[in-house]
Amino acid sequence: MTSNRERRMESFRPIVGIDLGTTNSAVAYIAEGKPQILPSPRGERIIPSVVLIDPQGRAVVGEDARAALVAMPDRSLAAVKRRMGSTEPLLLAGQALLPQEISALILKELKSYVDELHGEGDKEAVITVPAYFTDEQRRATKEAGELAGFVVERIINEPTAAALAFGLDNLENDQTFLVYDLGGGTFDVSVVELMSGVLEVRASTGNRMLGGEDFDWKLVDWLAERMIAEHGVDPRDDLRARALLKEKAEDAKKLLSSQETVSLAIPLVTVKHNTPIGLHVELTRTTFVSLIDAQLLESMDKVRQVLDDAGLHAANIDEVLLVGGSTRIPRVSELIVDLFGKAPRTDVNPDEAVALGAAVQAGLKSGALSDSGLVATDVAPFSMGIAVLTEGRLGAPRAGGFAPIIPRNTTIPVTRTKRFSTSAPGQTAVSIEVYQGEHEWVKHNHRLGEFLLEGLPANYKSLEPLDVTFRYNLNGILEVTAQSPANGKAMTVTVQDALNRESKEALQESAERLQKLWDQAPAEEPDDLLSEQEELMELEQWLDEEMDDEERTDEESPTVLHEEAQLLIGRVRDQLDQLESSAKTRALREMERLEQAMEAGDIDRLQQLIDDMTDFLIELEL
Ligand code: ADP
Ligand code: MG
Repeated sequence: MTSNRERRMESFRPIVGIDLGTTNSAVAYIAEGKPQILPSPRGERIIPSVVLIDPQGRAVVGEDARAALVAMPDRSLAAVKRRMGSTEPLLLAGQALLPQEISALILKELKSYVDELHGEGDKEAVITVPAYFTDEQRRATKEAGELAGFVVERIINEPTAAALAFGLDNLENDQTFLVYDLGGGTFDVSVVELMSGVLEVRASTGNRMLGGEDFDWKLVDWLAERMIAEHGVDPRDDLRARALLKEKAEDAKKLLSSQETVSLAIPLVTVKHNTPIGLHVELTRTTFVSLIDAQLLESMDKVRQVLDDAGLHAANIDEVLLVGGSTRIPRVSELIVDLFGKAPRTDVNPDEAVALGAAVQAGLKSGALSDSGLVATDVAPFSMGIAVLTEGRLGAPRAGGFAPIIPRNTTIPVTRTKRFSTSAPGQTAVSIEVYQGEHEWVKHNHRLGEFLLEGLPANYKSLEPLDVTFRYNLNGILEVTAQSPANGKAMTVTVQDALNRESKEALQESAERLQKLWDQAPAEEPDDLLSEQEELMELEQWLDEEMDDEERTDEESPTVLHEEAQLLIGRVRDQLDQLESSAKTRALREMERLEQAMEAGDIDRLQQLIDDMTDFLIELEL
């Protein structure tokens, strides 16, 4: 006899699927032969991907952290996924943490739901990433999983996962899907083919700067314009007002997915001449759609591009799957109908599809679904190759040409070898520079690493041949081997090793540091959420401060200015990746000036620079 609990444990294998989203994350597993979301103890099926280090020094993840974004902007962080792969630490409550460390805290939260069910200890996980994530971003994601205490079985592409969630119920029909995934911060579109139970991604593209967040900001701008027109005040100049408007804009946006109009009533947005200024406005879906239509149309351009890449026409697509919270906007379905002449499938929960699909992949791996008859394959999101001498425009050899070895959209895992040669007689060493990208010149592509193969036979009569092999595995991690066919001399690097010299100890140390943040004794109060009363008090205090600020004309306190400067710097740093190169250069210069002025304690200059930076941000619509 087995108890219910034992039966449940039996059907639950501790290998889970995780959607580590820009905005929201979720964890799922296979139970009773079906992928299911593992909710938080509070019953949330998805949680905001927001991390807070609370005043007690404890890491808090999810809704509570999201609620603190406005009140504690320097203690909380959202959308860390946009920073994945960067080696620049982010400042959170005065602590420098790498993007993967912050992501690890999110994963630790999800892991705690799994532990609840299955006991503590290492767990295996399949984690999803956008199809166009670079090698570094995939590795950072894998590392985040390891730091959280997961054994990362596989990193898979989000659209593949979504299609997997869908494919499981529809195995009998061979079909071609288009997965349109519009989330909070990323847009991803893929063509996925299901044939005799085998799912294969034919092509993928996307835009990592397109998502619901952008729609929120469009709406914030629109609201700000109203306030400027009515009160001559730009609420975006006030960081807190900006954050508040953003929150309200998102709420309004969501309501407009199910109703035609929404009334916004915010009694206090900001303060001018000691008078609180609020906002009351009616917003229609039509107005909202007009604000974001250009961006939605842009996403449809990507849809056409992916069809092109796959060598297909709209008519060849059997089903369009909508994934991601932003596909709830009715205009998205309209545009799909316009292009495909048929409605998208709605039997996939857009918030959960990716996590559920990751669980399916996990189930295939663990054996929980081994009799499903389903196999999943994936494609390389970029071309990968090496730098070579090519013929320049005038016929003379020119360095820096790109020779692809694995072309984009090749089904993976894949191993490809190409023969090259040394470039000068007598040469006994060659430097292999590895790149990914689509441009014929490497300087426009993304550099993955470089290594030196020495000990080639000195050949003075002709050029010496050289075989370069690329092995790209299912986690999207690349192994490169260069070998001399003449003497067998070879050298292999995994790009992971080539780039990431961080030792195991460093990883261990980081994991321990995160564990500490996680384990900090909880405060006396059972919950660290601000009570409504406290929130009100905060608001009043803020109002007082704002009034004070207004009165204090010439003599801003240095601390306030420093805090303001830090906030601005943080804000700009968070958005750096999204800036065009000239704006980026200017942003970096302004940041540097601000930092210098802070160091020098030059208050007048600091005030001036803060004003400049604020203007700059407004100019960029950040
Ligand atoms: P991500 O994949 O980036 O983590 P999600 O798929 O969870 O994101 O989508 C989150 C986005 O979806 C947010 O920008 C959120 O505002 C938006 N969203 C959620 N529900 C709705 C809705 N009903 N209408 C419009 N947008 C929505
Ligand atoms: Mg998503």
